[in-house]
Amino acid sequence: MDLRSRPEDEAFRLEVRGFLRQHWSDDDRRHNPPPRPTWLLAPVNRRDAAAVRLRTEAIARGYLYRHVPQRYGGGGAPWDPAKEAIIAEEFERAEAPAELIGNGPNVLVPTLLECGTEEQKQRFIRHVLLGTEYWCQGYSEPEAGSDLAALRTRAVLEDGAWTVTGHKIWTSMADVSDWMFALVRTEPVAPRHKGLSYLLIDMTAPGISVRPLVQMNGEHEFSEVFLDNVRVPLANMVGPRGAGWAVSMSALKHERQFAGATLVHPRMLDGVVALARASRRRGRPAIEDPVIRDRLVALQARMYANSYHAYRLTTMGRRAEEPGVAGMVAKLYGSTLAYELAKLAMDIVADGGMLWAECAPAGGIAPNSYMQAFGVLAGGGTANIQRNVIAERGLGLPRGPTR
Ligand SMILES: Cc1cc2nc3c(=O)[nH]c(=O)nc-3n(C[C@H](O)[C@H](O)[C@H](O)COP(=O)(O)OP(=O)(O)OC[C@H]3O[C@@H](n4cnc5c(N)ncnc54)[C@H](O)[C@@H]3O)c2cc1C
Repeated sequence: MDLRSRPEDEAFRLEVRGFLRQHWSDDDRRHNPPPRPTWLLAPVNRRDAAAVRLRTEAIARGYLYRHVPQRYGGGGAPWDPAKEAIIAEEFERAEAPAELIGNGPNVLVPTLLECGTEEQKQRFIRHVLLGTEYWCQGYSEPEAGSDLAALRTRAVLEDGAWTVTGHKIWTSMADVSDWMFALVRTEPVAPRHKGLSYLLIDMTAPGISVRPLVQMNGEHEFSEVFLDNVRVPLANMVGPRGAGWAVSMSALKHERQFAGATLVHPRMLDGVVALARASRRRGRPAIEDPVIRDRLVALQARMYANSYHAYRLTTMGRRAEEPGVAGMVAKLYGSTLAYELAKLAMDIVADGGMLWAECAPAGGIAPNSYMQAFGVLAGGGTANIQRNVIAERGLGLPRGPTR
């Protein structure tokens, strides 16, 4: 990926800036609904009417979702890393909502582009990109997390539709989602990896109930989802019957690369630096403490390494090359970096990390981010599982003795 600026890049930058001046007013910017939940690690995903309007215009100009063909609602522009960097910088500068981050855009869309039918691509992708339909991921079950192939939610084909019954857990954002992509058991007698199918389930269908789970920081980002004889049209199956494992592995690859995403780290680092400026340590601003400075710089260096690694993955993706180990390390590296940034925030506020909400330094952002960081280490496959995947599938080391 070559990010050096070319003569035409400045003209393009002015074009994007002019577009944003015209379509993103100060009022739009100020009307900024708080991200949910309020922590350093959350992507800022505005989905209000002004944000949808801006995204619609920006897609029409080919500024956003350039990798998605226009016929499915994307920007459909040739890959140009310098232009993409300029677009990202200008949207950031204008505090304008750019591409959404989450299960829908980062997991479902690439999965549908790879494995979906033409009808599914036409029906679903556009709404995901605009943020008018929100998706959750229904994989994990009470006895099937790391060992996902043990899942028991079953689906039976009756009168041309699946009838789904079961129990999903840890389903992020289920309470605000319109749709869920889920893995269910359709072939009970097949070997366990071959008995699964990948379904797109309407969260408003009769028989679905969602019970939010309260996390240790008091928020409820994920839920349990109960499915009781939920009808799902056959047309909502992605990939062939019994091939859900292969489809979900394609989805999981995308999820793990997005979980290692570099987007939240700069904002986290800025937040930690702001905290270090505002906090005191041994009678001086914490930002002047040599140990804190040393840790900040070390983490900043790792953040840059992660960014360049992400550029490498993007380049490989656009060339349709399999990233192999380079892709497998993304989730582990990105989530560990987020954890260490949150840990540094906790060390900066020191005893203040015991306080909560309005009593705490910076509204408790340090302890909140720290608690959330454990979830990021586990979600989408725990750190230990990532290490196993890298060792066994990436490096070809022998399997661990536990299995
Ligand atoms: C914040 C968050 C969001 C999530 N969002 C979703 C979601 O939207 N949709 C969804 O389907 N799921 C979601 N999950 C669930 C997540 O995928 C599971 O928590 C994860 O896969 C681990 O499964 P488990 O919780 O059952 O733990 P277990 O599998 O029981 O693991 C417990 C511990 O044992 C270790 N372990 C287990 N097996 C091995 C092994 N073979 N080798 C080494 N160590 C092992 C694990 O590393 C872990 O430390 C989310 C989880 C979190 C924390």
